[in-house]
Amino acid sequence: MTLIERDSQYLWHPYTQHKTAALPIAITKGEGALLWDENQKEYIDAIASWWVNPYGHSNKFIADAIYKQLTTLEHVLFGGFTHVPAIVLAEKLMAILPINQKKLFFSDNGSTAVEIAIKVALQSFFNKGTKKTTIIAFENAFHGDTFGAMAASGISFFTESFQGMLIDVVRIPVPIKGQEQFSFDALNKAVESGNCAGFIFEPLVQGAAGMVMYEPEALDQLLRICQEHNVLTIADEVMTGFGKTGRNFACDYLTQKPNMMCLSKALTGGTIPMAITTFTQDIFDAFYDEDINKALFHGHTFTANPTGCAAALASLELLQTEEMQNNLIRINTSHLDFKKRVENHPMVTATRVLGVIFALEIKTESSASYYGTLRNKLYAFFIENGVILRPVGNIVYILPPYVITDAQLQKVYEVVESALEIV
Ligand SMILES: *Cc1c(COP(=O)(O)O)cnc(C)c1O
Repeated sequence: MTLIERDSQYLWHPYTQHKTAALPIAITKGEGALLWDENQKEYIDAIASWWVNPYGHSNKFIADAIYKQLTTLEHVLFGGFTHVPAIVLAEKLMAILPINQKKLFFSDNGSTAVEIAIKVALQSFFNKGTKKTTIIAFENAFHGDTFGAMAASGISFFTESFQGMLIDVVRIPVPIKGQEQFSFDALNKAVESGNCAGFIFEPLVQGAAGMVMYEPEALDQLLRICQEHNVLTIADEVMTGFGKTGRNFACDYLTQKPNMMCLSKALTGGTIPMAITTFTQDIFDAFYDEDINKALFHGHTFTANPTGCAAALASLELLQTEEMQNNLIRINTSHLDFKKRVENHPMVTATRVLGVIFALEIKTESSASYYGTLRNKLYAFFIENGVILRPVGNIVYILPPYVITDAQLQKVYEVVESALEIV
């Protein structure tokens, strides 16, 4: 049997309708921005494997750190115990996180990081004797697939089977350029009820919505409204964190600071599943009490796994090298040149760039669905040409590993340009 036959015997893939989806590609090796399949066909991973891999596949520096940790202390429970990798990672992160972030809580993935933030928002009011039951989130948000995260997510077909079973969420429009006032008005209206515990958002870029971007000034204004009404703010930086926007965190562009932040994806350079939710001192204090019932009764078996922490420490060290910081600038500059090259193409209706993120929208007759025909045609074309890109409806975005070479990046641009000729 081939790998693909063996795969389809037992495996169920994410976001996949197995009856109609193309068969998966069996990848056997990765290096830098490149992946190879079982037939030695080469692919450029132009989306950093769902945004997790900035420093390249099979990165030796991270691998060595993981090996060293695995052969020193692979895991110890974090309830009642602690260890050096968690302590050092917390110190290093605190040094680069917004200054108001003072405590951090470990979990395993982006959804759990969000789940924890939502539970903390709700419980922190409960602990203070004022029960609030609603969360505010953006339209077309994506915060993950577990129940709380799914409730906050607004991409309807991801969640429609669960309507009526989700926590209450008030949805407000994204403050895209020219539409800011609608967003401010909707938030002002939402907070009036006094029942909103938190506002969760993807800062500056909505990834899964198709790299939809908005300005820091607009987000600052939304954060101000929340602060005035005692609504806790949660920056979901699971996608944007660790350099994607050109700075360590998207929140570094803001003058206001969120009360909580969610980190995952690039945290460990795409090696080991791990996530972190961070908090201000005030939030921690709302749980700090003689009364055991006021504690946060939440945990995961692998909380603060030392190997994951070691991978995160190595990743952070790579991010902070001059070479990696120069890569961020290099990719951003190339993206801006490419934007100029394609923005007047008759098939292109919009282009946008922030940091290493590039997106363009393709002209369509009707609105293109998330996994519709156009999307599938584009995806197949990119794969055929050795470039991994996953368009969202009619939106093609590029979010490469930071180590992608100029030649590889140019090839990605060329393939995207030729795709415009086939649609
Ligand atoms: C991917 C993502 C999540 C969910 O992370 P998982 O690790 O897939 O659970 C949450 N929020 C944002 C912004 C994401 O991009």
